[in-house]
Amino acid sequence: MPPGTRRCLSCRTLAPRERFWRVVRLFPTHQVVLDEGMGRSAYLCPQQSCLQQAQHKNRLGKVLKAPIPPEIYATLWARLTTPDPVPDAHPPGAPPGRQYPESGDHE
Ligand SMILES: [Zn+2]
Repeated sequence: MPPGTRRCLSCRTLAPRERFWRVVRLFPTHQVVLDEGMGRSAYLCPQQSCLQQAQHKNRLGKVLKAPIPPEIYATLWARLTTPDPVPDAHPPGAPPGRQYPESGDHE
């Protein structure tokens, strides 16, 4: 496969490395961390179904041959559930139906 291509441990999809979450079992400490460090790596699509499979079947633990700390999963779930910012959302707490003065247009 082309250089830089990785495979999701849950759904087996191939994609460029940057598209995946990377979970690393550090060498030589066997500490499991996200995104950085040197050691044995596992790759996962940033989507719910893949994270769920990786966790419930302990695929991640099997691929890395190490116990996965709960914080790793907690962090990934948090990333998954963080909503994308909505570009044209009203500012929080703004009164409904109120016109905002345009800058430079007030006296
Ligand atoms: Zn996947």
